Amino acid sequence: MTEVIDGFHLVVEALKANDVDTIYGIVGIPITDLARVAQASGIRYIGFRQETSAGNAAAAAGFLTRRPGVCLTTSGPGFLNGLPALANATANCFPMIQISGSSNRALVDLQRGDYQDIDQLNAARPFAKAAYRINRIEDIGRGVARAIRTAISGRPGGVYLDIPGDVLGQAMDAAAGADTVWRIVDPAPRQLPAPEAVERALQVLAQAQRPLIVLGKGAAYAQADNVIREFVEAGGIPFLPMSMAKGLLPDSHPQSAAAARSLAVARADVVLLVGARLNWLLGHGDSPQWSADAKFVQVDIAPSEFDSNQRIVAPLVGDIGSVMSALRDGLAARPVTVPAEWIKELADRTTRNDAKMCERLAEDPHPMRFYNALGAIRAVLQENPGAYVVNEGANALDLARNVIGMEVPRHRLDTGTWGVMGIGMGYAIAAAVETGEPVVAIEGDSAFGFSGMEIETICRYRLPVTVVILNNGGVYRGDEIAPNTAAKDPDPAPTVLNARAHHELIAEAFGGKGYHVTTPSELRSALSESIGSRTPSIIDCELDPAAGVESGHLASLNPTSAASRSAPVRDSR
Ligand code: ADP
Repeated sequence: MTEVIDGFHLVVEALKANDVDTIYGIVGIPITDLARVAQASGIRYIGFRQETSAGNAAAAAGFLTRRPGVCLTTSGPGFLNGLPALANATANCFPMIQISGSSNRALVDLQRGDYQDIDQLNAARPFAKAAYRINRIEDIGRGVARAIRTAISGRPGGVYLDIPGDVLGQAMDAAAGADTVWRIVDPAPRQLPAPEAVERALQVLAQAQRPLIVLGKGAAYAQADNVIREFVEAGGIPFLPMSMAKGLLPDSHPQSAAAARSLAVARADVVLLVGARLNWLLGHGDSPQWSADAKFVQVDIAPSEFDSNQRIVAPLVGDIGSVMSALRDGLAARPVTVPAEWIKELADRTTRNDAKMCERLAEDPHPMRFYNALGAIRAVLQENPGAYVVNEGANALDLARNVIGMEVPRHRLDTGTWGVMGIGMGYAIAAAVETGEPVVAIEGDSAFGFSGMEIETICRYRLPVTVVILNNGGVYRGDEIAPNTAAKDPDPAPTVLNARAHHELIAEAFGGKGYHVTTPSELRSALSESIGSRTPSIIDCELDPAAGVESGHLASLNPTSAASRSAPVRDSR
């Protein structure tokens, strides 16, 4: 009798042939057996409580490993829950593949009303770098290869791979099936920059009086840490890390301009962007945030990125490793000398800002405020530089980004290109699963709520994740009085949550450890203990509900009504 293989097994064979060793997902019709077969084959399957978190985990895995993270979703609503993560991966240029089971094509396309029927392929398309569907068992190997190649090559992104349930259930001759699966060769080929482009860029840099390098998360992703460091140090140019590039060179590096960020941005006359887009996170390169005369040089794998916001005087298309090697080598013939006044200007501002920061961190108000809690977290993380940091919230994000220095590349994962809330637990799970290292998720209480049920996932897999909730009881802050005070039993104001909620009990409900802290010293000892014990934990930090500002550092993006403009001005901490 000839041996046969079904679609489930072929998908798993195709993934394994391409080194996929972990799948993040939620089972259900029609992909439950896919997860079982994957697990039986040695692929690690991590089952979530909501698909967006599974997708976010896959995306974070892609960022950390430079291999596409895989998320598995069911048809219909499960698929839809995965889409925010697919879109977020694409926006952030993280390689990720959402594999989704789907309903019967014949029924969906004639809109006959099938179980969980949606035209998934077309629904996914606008949110993905590419969307493909496998319609025949013979195409499974090809479809997986195509998805992996697309996710990881060029500018990475999210890829949607649709597999209808009946294709998974089809069978074919096993030997013929094996021939349909292949391992892709050189998944993300190097792309060398043109020599004249390198020469042009070095010429511009050599003429600079106040040069600045901006390192973005594309540079962190590229895993070209040594060559980037060699170029930065050989040229002596000050650098500014974007938030997820923190640690690519240590924040304590003498050339870091992070503590003098606004000055560096406002005064730089030549800016070398390395894997960083001139999007809203960099004020689109516009004045007055940037000098109106600033010249931009940009390194990116996607040439269409150049000139998207400002004129790029020296575009360098290629992979960051190759481009930065060429720039480093070119420095011998065309050295860059950074004027001492520029270095001094930045150093003076850094000293001033560092002193201000130390003062704030040393305050000990009761109840605690953001800076005091973050000071305690900072002290513990300095003792644990290998811990991964996940960070989301408004004030919790903006302030932690400044207070918590990073010393190691790719150890900080945050809200990224969209500034999206809800990535917290998915990213934390991926960091723990992919690296085995302790993870500290610094969360606003509102941000935590978007993926909070994944605490159960963290506990079920016994992951070394500590979730620190900076609990001021609200979106932005927790002390707003509802405008409908005339009502007999007024509802809470739109921004208000519960400042006295004990989130730590959620961890205890699932067998993790809970801490409730009200002072920096309690926070410090709880965090040290929990990192050391590698026990899934929540530390609920009781903050002053009046701590925090509306929209964090993004107040300028928030249109306000005349009524709220005339409200009393609040303390801005
Ligand atoms: P940040 O938000 O940190 O400023 P962005 O996500 O805006 O960073 O920018 C990342 C950029 O890096 C994207 O434009 C992307 O095309 C680019 N990129 C990603 N990987 C590579 C790579 N290996 N080589 C070159 N550029 C890359």
